[in-house]
Amino acid sequence: TIPISIVFSLLCFYIIHLIGTQHYSLGYRLTLAVKRRELVAFYQPIIDAQTGYIVGAEALVRWIKPNGSVESPGAFIQTLEQSKLINKVTLQLVNNMPNDLAEVLQCSPNFRCSINLVPQHLELPFFADELVTLSKNGYPCHQLAIEITERLPLKDLREAGMNVEKMKALGVCIELDDAGTGYGGASYLQELNIDVIKIDKLFVDTLIISPDRTQVLDANIQMAKTLGMQIIAEGVEEPSQSKALLEKGVRFQQGYLFAQPMSAVEFVKFWRIRQES
Ligand code: C2E
Ligand code: CA
Ligand code: CA
Ligand code: CA
Repeated sequence: TIPISIVFSLLCFYIIHLIGTQHYSLGYRLTLAVKRRELVAFYQPIIDAQTGYIVGAEALVRWIKPNGSVESPGAFIQTLEQSKLINKVTLQLVNNMPNDLAEVLQCSPNFRCSINLVPQHLELPFFADELVTLSKNGYPCHQLAIEITERLPLKDLREAGMNVEKMKALGVCIELDDAGTGYGGASYLQELNIDVIKIDKLFVDTLIISPDRTQVLDANIQMAKTLGMQIIAEGVEEPSQSKALLEKGVRFQQGYLFAQPMSAVEFVKFWRIRQES
């Protein structure tokens, strides 16, 4: 039999180890996770509500833990965004896209997948330069969109504008995310040569919460139309919202009504079924 003292020491060792790993900072655990490629894209379809067809998708980062659990970005995106790790993660996601979506990209030449960027991706030339290299190697940049959020401030709008131009020259589509909720407003629209406005869930919600107070939503839609920009409505959960948006001329819609974000494999399956029906 094993002496009790050895069993006791092993137990102590195990407990200390458990406590230890839990005390690693989130930043450190994320660094490891990025190295192990545990951060991957889930894809949420964007639907033409008039026809029911899938016109694109948004790539949203998920942390697949070694035990198989899936963590949403709410718990870690701020830590990523505040460190240089976000650069590596974004490039990993973009690099995986052609493989993740190979069948879809090939069969639907107009299908476009968007990726969320942070200000440092725009204010420094590295991301645009990286895309130039990818594009030279045959990357389908005309099937890529970048989402620029209004949630975070851009310090150097001119530099950002120049990098956006570089991406645009490759055929990348430029989208304004979280429109109307943050910093940029009209200056972003003017300086960043925006092609698509993504109307935030906040405004889509007014269609249910206070249908007689949709002035901001209507003004956003009107502005996009006046400027010749496309519109995508986010966070569409109810058929009545979808219908009301269609009546206002907003065909492209994204939300739980149609589908949640899915793993690449699930997304391609979802797309196949929609194609066949
Ligand atoms: P976002 O860019 O505004 O993305 C939309 C969020 O709304 C996603 O949450 C999506 O899952 C969720 N959503 C979609 N449809 C519905 C709906 O009908 N109802 C509700 N209640 N929610 C809906 P998620 O994936 O948790 O991402 C949260 C935020 O994290 C994103 O907001 C974005 O700001 C950030 N994020 C996600 N992935 C990335 C990434 O790869 N890079 C960066 N920089 N940020 C990311
Ligand atoms: Ca987004
Ligand atoms: Ca958004
Ligand atoms: Ca949002």
